[in-house]
Amino acid sequence: MSAFTALTLTVIILPLQHITLATGITAVAANLVGGLTPDIDQPTAKLWHDIPAGTIVGRIIDPFLGGHRTISHSIIGVVLFGYLSKIGLTALSHVLLVNMTFVWWAFMIGFISHIIMDLFTHEGEPLLFPINFHFGFPPLKELRIKTGGIIEKLIVFPGLILINAYLFYAYYAKFLDFLKHYIVR
Ligand SMILES: [Zn+2]
Repeated sequence: MSAFTALTLTVIILPLQHITLATGITAVAANLVGGLTPDIDQPTAKLWHDIPAGTIVGRIIDPFLGGHRTISHSIIGVVLFGYLSKIGLTALSHVLLVNMTFVWWAFMIGFISHIIMDLFTHEGEPLLFPINFHFGFPPLKELRIKTGGIIEKLIVFPGLILINAYLFYAYYAKFLDFLKHYIVR
């Protein structure tokens, strides 16, 4: 949800660009995948559950990734995953006729929004991995949110939905303009 919110904000902040419908749909999908990808280092991560037998795969590679927030929740991780996704999307661009620059940015916006949101959780994140120091905001751990806890479920998640609803309402004209004039064949 935070990935999608970040994407919504990007559309609001930046000038509109002409894209194809296929690029738009692929970008939204890439944004959601990007939002889930940092948790690839957790065997019980949602991403693995969505892939058949994913949890087994997760458990197999788990010892290599550390089992909790590690490299994919760090600055090196952002650079690494940014680089790898660029290679992957460039390869895919021979098959999929979409503008991969947009798709890549949508993926990265999702990825980075996840890194930002996890800063507010108890665990924090090893931003300077491999240095094993977990950063978080606020710095006092007790003031942060428990992952998967009641605050996340009852306040953060519904809050993000409300923020999106408000943004679509407040910037209705821009979104309408986008759908009407900027989606090209
Ligand atoms: Zn995470």
